[in-house]
Formats: sequence, structure tokens, C-alpha cells
Amino acid sequence: MKDCIFCKIVKGEIPSKKVYEDEEILAFEDINPVTPVHILVIPKKHICSINELEAEDERIIGKIFSVIKNIAKEQGISEDGYRVVSNCGENGGQEVKHLHFHILGGKKLGTKVA
Ligand code: AMP
Ligand code: ZN
Repeated sequence: MKDCIFCKIVKGEIPSKKVYEDEEILAFEDINPVTPVHILVIPKKHICSINELEAEDERIIGKIFSVIKNIAKEQGISEDGYRVVSNCGENGGQEVKHLHFHILGGKKLGTKVA
């Protein structure tokens, strides 16, 4: 996707602070962290949002959650807990139209999700 900011990060055209990378998945620090640990995990393949997921993407989404588990451990937030969020579409507050999962941790989060 030509004008997608996260595709540009995948291609190295925009710098990022990477915390994990393999052939299919990239994780990097959010540029505007809202919690002490705020990491974004994305498939390298451009998928706009959860709405555009196809059956063939099931495996990579499963793998993303394994990556999230490992990153949480490495970041030292596994034991205390953390939140994983994927905003979808207008009402979900999605700003970047490339599927991503926020890992939010390092402090006690509110119990309300909306
Ligand atoms: P969302 O509202 O779920 O689409 O969140 C998009 C997230 O991407 C926000 O938390 C932004 O701070 C983050 N973001 C935008 N541009 C960059 C960038 N160049 N590097 C890292 N994070 C970014
Ligand atoms: Zn993209």
C-alpha cells in the first residue's frame, strides 16, 4: 500500500524502534505512548482492519498473539498484566488503516474499555 504509514515502516522508509521482527510480523514502539509500555504489533502484509481479515489470515493472527505474549514477557509486564487493543473503523477510533494491535502496560489501567 503506497501511502500507508505502517507499510512504510515495514519497508524501512520511516524509522521505528523495533522490538520484534520476523518475515511476517513487525512490532515497534508507539510514537506517542499512552502507557509506560506501548508497543504496536502488525502483520507486514497490508490488511486495513479486522473487517478485511480473510480465512487465509487466521494463522498469522494466531502467530501475532504468540508474539504479543513473548513481547509482554520481555518487557516485564506479563505478571502484572496488560491490555491488547485493536481499534476498528470510525467508531472504533482507528487512525492508521493498517491492522495493528496495541500492547498497553506498565501501569494499572482503568477497568472501563469505553
Ligand atoms: P489507532 O488509533 O489504533 O489507529 O492508533 C494508531 C497508533 O499509531 C497511535 O497510537 C499512534 O501514536 C501510532 N503511530 C502513528 N504513527 C506512528 C509512527 N510513525 N511510529 C510509531 N507509531 C505511530
Ligand atoms: Zn499498510
